[in-house]
Amino acid sequence: MIQRTLEQVAQMLGSEVRGTEAALSIAGVSTDTRSIPAGSLFIPLIGEKFDGHAYAEEAYHKGAAAVLWQEDHGEAPEGVPYIPVSDTLAALQQLAKAYRKQLTVRIIGITGSNGKTTTKDLVAAVLGSTYKVHKTKGNLNNHIGLPVTLLQLEETTEFAVVEMGMSGRGEIELLSDLAEPDASIITMIGESHMLQLGSREEIARAKVEIVSGMPSGSLLVYNGDEPLIEMALAERSLPEGFRHLRFGHSEDNAKHPTAIRMDADGAHFQINSSGYPELYIPLLGTHNVINALAAIAIGEAFGVQPEAIAAGLRSLEMTSMRIEKLTAASGLTVLNDAYNASPASMRAAITLTEQLGGFGRKFLVLGDMLELGEHEEQFHREIGAMVSPERVDYVFTFGRLGRFIAEEAAVRLPKDRVLAFEDKELLASELAAMAQPEDIVLVKGSRGMRLEQVVNALLL
Ligand code: ATP
Ligand code: MG
Repeated sequence: MIQRTLEQVAQMLGSEVRGTEAALSIAGVSTDTRSIPAGSLFIPLIGEKFDGHAYAEEAYHKGAAAVLWQEDHGEAPEGVPYIPVSDTLAALQQLAKAYRKQLTVRIIGITGSNGKTTTKDLVAAVLGSTYKVHKTKGNLNNHIGLPVTLLQLEETTEFAVVEMGMSGRGEIELLSDLAEPDASIITMIGESHMLQLGSREEIARAKVEIVSGMPSGSLLVYNGDEPLIEMALAERSLPEGFRHLRFGHSEDNAKHPTAIRMDADGAHFQINSSGYPELYIPLLGTHNVINALAAIAIGEAFGVQPEAIAAGLRSLEMTSMRIEKLTAASGLTVLNDAYNASPASMRAAITLTEQLGGFGRKFLVLGDMLELGEHEEQFHREIGAMVSPERVDYVFTFGRLGRFIAEEAAVRLPKDRVLAFEDKELLASELAAMAQPEDIVLVKGSRGMRLEQVVNALLL
């Protein structure tokens, strides 16, 4: 984490230290009074519900060395050392950018509609076999989380793998300008944030903003199965000596899989490069093999040897299992992906469930995908139409939009095997009554649908 004197911090912010010795050092920054590391700089941010300035005094008494203070908030609390700034959020970002510039760390930025956190973990696993690596904690991928992540880096960190999320145009550009990534990955373009951006073309342009802060000679690794990324790249001016590499299913990509075999806990695969043993990731789904290709490309670009890349992938540590494989007391297997849903992640989860062997009957419990904008009905219909009657036994939907999934699924599956619900408890109790110990149930929907309630009911 950042260790600088208050004077140095003030300099990085174009300000000055008030109320204490400028030679005093800070160790890290904090934005949350619930956890104030001793000696940190407290940065009070202004949110919709809370204004961190109300907690500045408490932060100091809990051990913060000093605080930032936004000048339009009147006097800083009596006795609390502070650095005045015009905007605390802008100051957090400015400090992170200045600190990043002082470090020799190489930064890998990761964006895309789905798969950012997973790919971040994969890249960190690959680079971690050989280098000292820091990765974004949890999902801290926005205009606050990214600067906080940069300020966590040590002088000795060799690589930082940082996630960059967005919900509209201009956001990735801001993050890229802060981080100045030496290499970046665009995992894929989906339909998330369609509501804000209007079209997949605009979503692609928003992701491609990641090149904005990349220095000359930097490398972009992107999903070559998605023509819109190339389209959006062609519209921009690129850094001097810019390099790029495509990965994906198609053989046209510089990195593509030549064989994939799924077992109950992960994927074995081979790629079109020599020198590799058979590769394995402890993750389900072919989409994760594709995510792994991006990580392999980054590893190779920074000199990690094939054996070390393979070892890194095998020992992957995940931030959180988004698709959690759970077993009920009865023996019933539940794939819990109730955390979130977009069309791409919904398709990935259904394909994964369809490909799993060794189970009795397969149930899909699919809830509404929210925030998709005017084509939301079409997106739900497409999900219903992709369900394979040979590989799926029952489809249960929940919610107003889920009904469109059910309508399309019922075109190919027997009608009595497709059930649309508006009542979650009823859905859960009917499902619990039908499911046998050897069966498997996928549960997926947008956060707002709270389908974890169904998961919990099944696990009882
Ligand atoms: P968030 O925007 O919430 O931070 P994220 O981009 O970090 O999401 P992950 O957390 O890695 O994404 O994965 C979320 C879900 O997306 C996973 O459960 C999986 O079903 C799906 N997913 C992951 N990678 C891909 C991919 N390459 N293509 C399609 N779906 C994917
Ligand atoms: Mg994420």
